[in-house]
Amino acid sequence: MTRIAVVGAGPSGVFVTAALLERPDVRVDVYDRSPTPFGLVRYGVAPDHLKIKSVRRTLSRTLGDPRVSFLGNVEIGRDVSLAALRGAYSAVVLAVGAPEVNALGIPGDDLAGHVGAGRLVDWYNGRPGATRPDGERRGRVAVIGGGNVALDVARVLLHGREGLAHTDVPEHVLADLDAEPTTDVHLLVRRGPLDTRFTPAELAAFEKLPDLDLVVDPSCLPAAPPVDDAAAAARLAILARWSGRPHGGARRRLTVRFHSPPVALTGDDRVAAVQLPGGERLGVDLVVSAVGFRGRPLDDCPFDPATGTIPHRAGRVDSGLYVTGWIKRGPTGVIGANKACALETAATLLADVPPEDTGPVPSVHAGRPVVSWPGWLAIDRAEAALGERHGRARTTIHELSRLVRIGTAGEERQP
Ligand code: NAP
Repeated sequence: MTRIAVVGAGPSGVFVTAALLERPDVRVDVYDRSPTPFGLVRYGVAPDHLKIKSVRRTLSRTLGDPRVSFLGNVEIGRDVSLAALRGAYSAVVLAVGAPEVNALGIPGDDLAGHVGAGRLVDWYNGRPGATRPDGERRGRVAVIGGGNVALDVARVLLHGREGLAHTDVPEHVLADLDAEPTTDVHLLVRRGPLDTRFTPAELAAFEKLPDLDLVVDPSCLPAAPPVDDAAAAARLAILARWSGRPHGGARRRLTVRFHSPPVALTGDDRVAAVQLPGGERLGVDLVVSAVGFRGRPLDDCPFDPATGTIPHRAGRVDSGLYVTGWIKRGPTGVIGANKACALETAATLLADVPPEDTGPVPSVHAGRPVVSWPGWLAIDRAEAALGERHGRARTTIHELSRLVRIGTAGEERQP
């Protein structure tokens, strides 16, 4: 057997695993720092995107393959060094994503009441250790950014408890959302409507939210749609619809503002306003910046700080070391985009690494309880059972110790 380690059990890691299994001599150990698999599908995709989340079924087929082992709760760089991993396997593939949020870089961005989107997304998806964003106040929110993450954040906050009750968000998140419902979201986009990175479907999703005013200043929209950019034309058609709608009277409001790069965040002990160009001041309770992500350096692995990625050639970093997904090409593209990326990396690796007859890899990680695939299945059952108790399909368990306990003991004792 040729033994390969994949670091990261998100879509990129699992897609590359599936591609590697095409060669019959390959066995793959998939490591993840979380006790649970699926990476961004569990902790990044918005909870109301049930269809996107259903890719879990496809990912599960690969992770449940007899030639694959899942080793959850093991962090490379903390529990085991990359060098040790490389020494134990014929090859290592890093599929560690881009977990750092880009900084806003304006005066006042260190004030309480301003959070990076990653923190909010982690919180509402129940990532262990993620805490509720600063303070209780969340009535008027400015979301900064012109990409799909900004739309996710705006939509989830505007949904509130009632719009998320059918999803798997943890119970404490539903309660928190209920305690201070968001009534006003200002989406601040620094460029014009033709230059946003929103996908039309994500924009159109707001039209399904009940009791919501959608506000766009018609004078910001170009008179004619672009002829050579179908996505931009589709976005423009949606925005034009919104700009023509009467508004006022709904319980909640989304205002999209173009050419509105924030100049500063102001306030005494916490954010009270966003300063816009021309001296305009927008009073808010919370500011969320959704201005993109970047990779994090790992041990002594090469890293390009300018792009936040690991330099590579067709997926190869170095002899026996490969990359795939966002750490390879940057944080762009929907989940499916990681398939082609993974196929390229797997092809490079399989051409480099001949079939080898390596025995089982001894445990390379120190001390921590490891959650295996059957352990994850026990967590999965516990989350379904918890959901049933609350009248929902499933409820995410967010406490690390509880996940590890269930994932290593097999079942959760009923309280
Ligand atoms: P993104 O698509 O790269 O968008 C980042 C946005 O932030 C851009 O509009 C950018 O504006 C803006 N920005 C960057 N720096 C800024 C600054 N200093 N001040 C103000 N604005 C700034 O990133 P993302 O939204 O994090 O999404 C990451 C990837 O995940 C994307 O490929 C996205 O499509 C994908 N995703 C998909 C879904 C879905 O399909 N449902 C959901 C979430 C995420 P400029 O354009 O002017 O640089």
